[in-house]
Amino acid sequence: MSRVMIIGAGGVGNVVTQMCARIPGVFSEIVLASRTRKKCDAIAARVDGPVRTLQVDADNVGELTALLEVERPALVINVALPYQDLAIMDACLAVGVHYLDTANYETRDTAKFEYKWQWAYQDRFEMAGLTALLGSGFDPGATNVFTAYLAKHYLDEIRELDIIDINGGEHDYPFATNFNPEINIREVTAECRHWEQGGFVTTPALSTKARFTCPDDMGSFDIYCMYHEELESLTRFHPELRRARFWMSFSDSYLKHLEVLGNVGMTGIEPVEHDGHKIVPVQFLQTLLPDPAGLGSRTTGKTCIGCVARGIRDGEEKIFYIYNICDHQVCFAEVGSQAVSYTTGVSAMIGAKLILEDKWLRPGVWNLEQLDPDPFMENMNRYGLPWNVIELDSFEL
Ligand code: NDP
Repeated sequence: MSRVMIIGAGGVGNVVTQMCARIPGVFSEIVLASRTRKKCDAIAARVDGPVRTLQVDADNVGELTALLEVERPALVINVALPYQDLAIMDACLAVGVHYLDTANYETRDTAKFEYKWQWAYQDRFEMAGLTALLGSGFDPGATNVFTAYLAKHYLDEIRELDIIDINGGEHDYPFATNFNPEINIREVTAECRHWEQGGFVTTPALSTKARFTCPDDMGSFDIYCMYHEELESLTRFHPELRRARFWMSFSDSYLKHLEVLGNVGMTGIEPVEHDGHKIVPVQFLQTLLPDPAGLGSRTTGKTCIGCVARGIRDGEEKIFYIYNICDHQVCFAEVGSQAVSYTTGVSAMIGAKLILEDKWLRPGVWNLEQLDPDPFMENMNRYGLPWNVIELDSFEL
C-alpha cells in the first residue's frame, strides 16, 4: 500500500493515472501533479477513485523537492517530458523517493538521446537505497522486456534484433503526432543510427525503408529505420548482439508534411527572432498541431509493436517474433486515449507496480532488460497488453 506521485497530465499521464487507480491494493493513494493543474483535474474527474491534484514546475528542483517533502510518496512516476528527468531524479534523491520514467533525458538544445546523464546517477541511487527505473513505457519499455524474455526463454544466444513499431491508426488530420509533438519530431528527424558489429552506424534520417507484414491480418506497412533510445541500453546489456535496428511505420501524408515543414524550418529546435521575441520553431509548431491526448476519439486501427530476434538455440539458428497488438478504439473505450498513450501508460503502471511490490525493487538505476522479465510479462497479459511469440522460418527487411 503506497502513495504514488504521477508527474505530467498529458496523454500518457491520463492512462497511467487511470490504471494505477484500478489497483488500490498497490497504489493506495494517487497524487497527480503537472504544470497546468486544470489538466490534472480533468484526468482526476475521469478516474473512478480519489486522485489529488497539484500544480508543479518539475524543471524547478527546489519547488519539486519541497512538494515531495510534504507529500512523501514512495515513488514518482515521471510522464512529463524528457527535459525534466534529471530535475525529478535530483528531487527524488533529496527526499528519498523511488523514480520511474518512460523516456530518457535529453537537453533542449540538442536532439540527441543518450542514457549517459541518467546512468551517472547509479551510485547515488544505490547508496540511497532507492530504485530508478528508466524507460518503462512500451518502446522503450515492453520492447526491452520482450528482448530479455526471448533471451531468457527462447534463445541461448541472441545475435540480431529488429524492433518494429507499427502504428496502423488513422485519424482525419493530415498531420498529427501520436505523442508529444515536439519530442516526436525531434526523434523522427534525428539522423538514424543502428548497431552493427560492435558500433553504431549512422545514416541520414528516414533513408532506409522496408515493408513489414503484421500478424493477425493487420496488413502490410512501410517502415523506416531510425534511432531509438533502447538500442543504446540493449546493446550495452546484451553485448552479444551483432546487429540491432529500430523501425517505425509512417504514413505518406505524415512524411510529406514533415518534409515540407522541415524545408521551411518549422521543425528547427534553435530559437529564432520573431517580432521582437525569441521562439523555437518546433515549439510554435506544437501549438498549432492537434493535442495527442485528444486524438483518441477519432483514431481507428491498431498498433503492432514487437521484436524479431535471430539467434542460436541448441546449436541451431532460430528466429522468434514477440509482439502486442492494440486497437485504438478499444483503448479509447476503456480509458479515453489512443493506443500509443495506452501502451505507454499501462507499461509505466506495471513497472511502478513491480517496484512497489518489491519484485523490481533494487537500489540503483536500471533499464528494464536488466531485471527479470517474467513478472512484467505476466502483468502485461493481466492489464490489457496481451502478447504472443511465434517462430518464423525466415526474416529479411
Ligand atoms: P504530453 O505532451 O501529452 O504530456 C506531457 C505533460 O507533461 C503535459 O501535461 C505537460 O504539462 C507536462 N509537463 C511538461 N513540462 C512540465 C514541467 N516542467 N513540469 C510539470 N509538468 C510538465 O506528452 P505525452 O503524454 O504524449 O508523453 C509523456 C511522456 O511519455 C514523454 O516524455 C514521451 O516522450 C513519453 N512517451 C514514451 C513512450 C514509450 O513508449 N516509452 C511513448 C510515448 C510517449 P502542460 O500540458 O501544462 O504543458
